[in-house]
Amino acid sequence: MAKMYYDKDADLSVLKGKKIAILGYGSQGHAWANNLKDSNIDIVVGLYKGSKSIAKAEADGFIVKSVAEVTMEADIVVVLMPDNVQPEVYEKEILPNLKPNKALVVAHGFNILYNQIVPPEYVDVFMVAPKSPGHLVRRMFKEGKGVPGLLAIYQDITGRAKEMGLAIAKGIGCTRAGLIETTFQEETETDLFGEQCVLCGGVNHLITATFETLVEAGYQPEIAYFECLNELKLLIDLVYEGGIKWMRYSISDTAEYGDYTRGPRVIDDHVRQNMKQILKEIQDGSFAQEWILENKAGRPKYTAMKYRAKEHLIEKVGDQLRAMMPWLEKRD
Ligand code: NAD
Ligand code: MG
Ligand code: MG
Ligand code: MG
Ligand code: MG
Ligand code: MG
Repeated sequence: MAKMYYDKDADLSVLKGKKIAILGYGSQGHAWANNLKDSNIDIVVGLYKGSKSIAKAEADGFIVKSVAEVTMEADIVVVLMPDNVQPEVYEKEILPNLKPNKALVVAHGFNILYNQIVPPEYVDVFMVAPKSPGHLVRRMFKEGKGVPGLLAIYQDITGRAKEMGLAIAKGIGCTRAGLIETTFQEETETDLFGEQCVLCGGVNHLITATFETLVEAGYQPEIAYFECLNELKLLIDLVYEGGIKWMRYSISDTAEYGDYTRGPRVIDDHVRQNMKQILKEIQDGSFAQEWILENKAGRPKYTAMKYRAKEHLIEKVGDQLRAMMPWLEKRD
């Protein structure tokens, strides 16, 4: 069984008198900064000149300085910039200002596991990885709830890395839901596999493929949208609340019979073979290498795919249908 930590296992007072620098004020950065501030921890935000996030962070009451400045003055430096920009900022602004016995914290293990960031031996290095989009890290915390998270210690030179990691996880709300102890390798490989095969790649392509199948067969796109996309949220909420069995309890027996008999034909052996291959490419580093090179080349493939995907019929139909649901905030 996994080693789990909850609120009772973490002590916020170990962060008393310490200053935490949050580098980046995006999805995770804004959530960490605000949750930690609400947990009475001293926060300073590091951004680059011209960042659109500066105004947001200042409006939320934070002091904002350059990455170099906040790294120099903080006891704990949390790197919450996009993964692809981290290596360069690390070399130029973080490493030269990182003093001995300080702590370097990340929310995902990619750069350290694949040697894009090589920390010096004189600082603590650990990861607190919320298993949630940043906006929910903040929203759930405000509602008195929390999202689960992972804790991994890469390097513990002060002997206090774990208690600091636990305290930060508590300060952002993760120990309310459960924090699992792991390694950089396990976090990174499972995170990439999850987002590629189910959470993002798997689900987005399953939605799109089912939508296209219905539309190509002559059914109305609006009906295909409701069936293949909108209703997924309603059903996945049931899975989240009570497991797959709770969703199966709520659906009709006909739907449940179709689930047992047709589901394995959609996710057949061929799909499982593909999943194994995708996992292999994560484990042997070839996915990481491909993505690092894509970034070095200026993201030509990524940009083209992003543009093409936005133009898909499912997005246009969705925009129109959601405009009729006034309780949904507009998201662009
Ligand atoms: P993001 O893209 O939402 O935020 C980027 C922030 O970094 C912005 O405020 C931007 O202005 C700032 N930034 C960009 N370049 C910078 C630079 N050169 N110097 C200083 N600041 C700069 O990032 P994110 O999605 O929150 O990801 C942050 C980290 O959290 C990553 O390691 C990611 O893997 C991890 N993570 C993200 C999520 C998520 O929900 N997005 C979930 C778990 C873990
Ligand atoms: Mg993003
Ligand atoms: Mg993830
Ligand atoms: Mg990820
Ligand atoms: Mg139905
Ligand atoms: Mg039923």
